[in-house]
Amino acid sequence: MRRIAIVGAGQAGLQLALGLLAADYEVTLVADRSPDEVRQGQVTSTQIMFHTALDQERELGLNHWEDQTPPIEGLGITVATPDGVRRADWMGRLDHYAQSVDQRVKMAGWMEEFTERGGHLVLRAAGVADLEALSRGHDLVVVATGKGELSTLFARDPLHSPFLTPQRALSAAYVHGLGPRLDHDRPGLSASFVAGVGALFVLPSYTTSGPCGALLWEAVPGGPADVFAGVRDPGERLRLILELVERHTPWEHARTAKVELTDERATLTGGYPPVVRHPVAELPSGALVLGAGDVLVLADPAGAQGANSAAKCATAYLRSIVEHGDGPFDREFMERTFARYWDTAGAAITRFTNTMLAPLPEHVQRMFMVANEYPEVADRFVNAFDDPSLLRDWFYQPEEMARYLDDVRMRGGAGAGA
Ligand SMILES: Cc1cc2nc3c(=O)[nH]c(=O)nc-3n(C[C@H](O)[C@H](O)[C@H](O)COP(=O)(O)OP(=O)(O)OC[C@H]3O[C@@H](n4cnc5c(N)ncnc54)[C@H](O)[C@@H]3O)c2cc1C
Repeated sequence: MRRIAIVGAGQAGLQLALGLLAADYEVTLVADRSPDEVRQGQVTSTQIMFHTALDQERELGLNHWEDQTPPIEGLGITVATPDGVRRADWMGRLDHYAQSVDQRVKMAGWMEEFTERGGHLVLRAAGVADLEALSRGHDLVVVATGKGELSTLFARDPLHSPFLTPQRALSAAYVHGLGPRLDHDRPGLSASFVAGVGALFVLPSYTTSGPCGALLWEAVPGGPADVFAGVRDPGERLRLILELVERHTPWEHARTAKVELTDERATLTGGYPPVVRHPVAELPSGALVLGAGDVLVLADPAGAQGANSAAKCATAYLRSIVEHGDGPFDREFMERTFARYWDTAGAAITRFTNTMLAPLPEHVQRMFMVANEYPEVADRFVNAFDDPSLLRDWFYQPEEMARYLDDVRMRGGAGAGA
C-alpha cells in the first residue's frame, strides 16, 4: 500500500486525504489544531463554493452539511459610484446552487471522519525537519498549509504574481438575524462594488450554531473602509462593518441593521498579497515535496475562488496520484500533477481574481450596466464563478464583449447567449 503524507488540514489537504483513504492509500495527515480547536477557534473565511467544487465533495461523500446549509441560488451585483449612485444593480441566476459552510464546521468534521476512516492524524505545527522525516517514511509528501509559513519553501512565480502587497483589507463577521434582500427574487450572495471604497459581500452561510449570514468587506487599502487595523474586539469589528454598510452600501442597511455575531470568534480582519508559486520544493536533504491549494495559488477573496480552487486542486491531485499507480512520485510527476490543476482551473481563477482587484475595465462596467436590462448577460457572468475559464472568450476582450452585447440587444435578450 502506498504511503502519502499531507501537511495541513484545510479544504485542499483534507479533501485529498479523505479521497486517498477511499482509494486505499495509507495516509498521514499533519494538522496544527485538533478538531475541537478548529471548531471553537476563529473563523477563517466566508467560502462560498460553487457547483463544480461542491460536486467534487459529493463524489467523495463529503457533503454532510448540504441539507442544513441555505442554498445560494443567485449572485447579486451592484456597482455604485462613491456617492452612492447605483449604475448596475441586478441578480443573476446560478444554474446550480452554491453554498457556504463555515470551515470551522467542515474541517473539524472532516478531520474526525479522517481518523474514523483509518487515517493517521498527527497534531503538530510541522516544520522543515518534520517534512524531512515524513519524506523518509512516505512515498509522497504534499504541503497544503495555506498561508502558513511553509508556503515560502515554494518559489514565487513572478509571471503570475503581479502584486507584492495586499490588494484589499479584509474584515468579515458571521451573524444571526440577517434579513433577505427584498429586491432580489431568490436567495443569494450579493456583492456591492463601490468605486474607491471596495466591495461588500453578504451571503447566507452555515456555522457551528446553524444557518446564519456572513458579511465581508474588501476595502481598498488606504480608502474609507480600511478602518480595521488594530481593532481586536469582535463587537467593535461588527459595529464598524455595519457603520460602513450604512455609509457606503445603504441598500444593504435595512436587512443588516439588527444582526448579532454568531459567537465571540466569528470575526476576522487582515489581508495578504495574492501569489502563485512553483509546485515543487526541495528540502535540505534533496527530498522533494509537492504544494497544494493556497500554498501554490493564493487568490484574494474578491473573486470568491480560493476554496473552490483548493477543492479543484485536491481533485486533480487525487486523480493523478491514482492514475500514476506504482510510478515514482518524482519531480516530473509533481510538475505534471500541478499542471493538470493549473490548466483546468488555477490559471483561469488567477486571471479572473486579479482582474476583479484592478479598477474594473470600462467594457466590464458597460457589461454590468447592460445586465440591468438583459438577464441573460447577468446569468452568463454569474455562472462563470463556477468555472472562470468560461470568461476567456468574451470577458477580457473589449471587442468580443461589444460583439456579444450587441448580439444580445439585437435579439432582445432572447435565447441562450453565445
Ligand atoms: C475573508 C475570506 C473570505 C473568503 N471567501 C472565499 C469565498 O467566498 N470562496 C472561496 O472559494 N474562497 C474564499 N476564501 C479563500 C478560501 O478560504 C481559501 O482559499 C481556502 O480555505 C484554501 O484552502 P487550503 O486548504 O489551501 O488552505 P487553508 O484553508 O488555509 O488550510 C491550511 C491548513 O493548514 C494548517 N497549517 C498551517 N501551517 C501548518 C503547519 N506548519 N503544520 C500543520 N498545519 C498547518 C492551517 O492551520 C490550516 O488548517 C476566502 C478567504 C478569506 C480569508
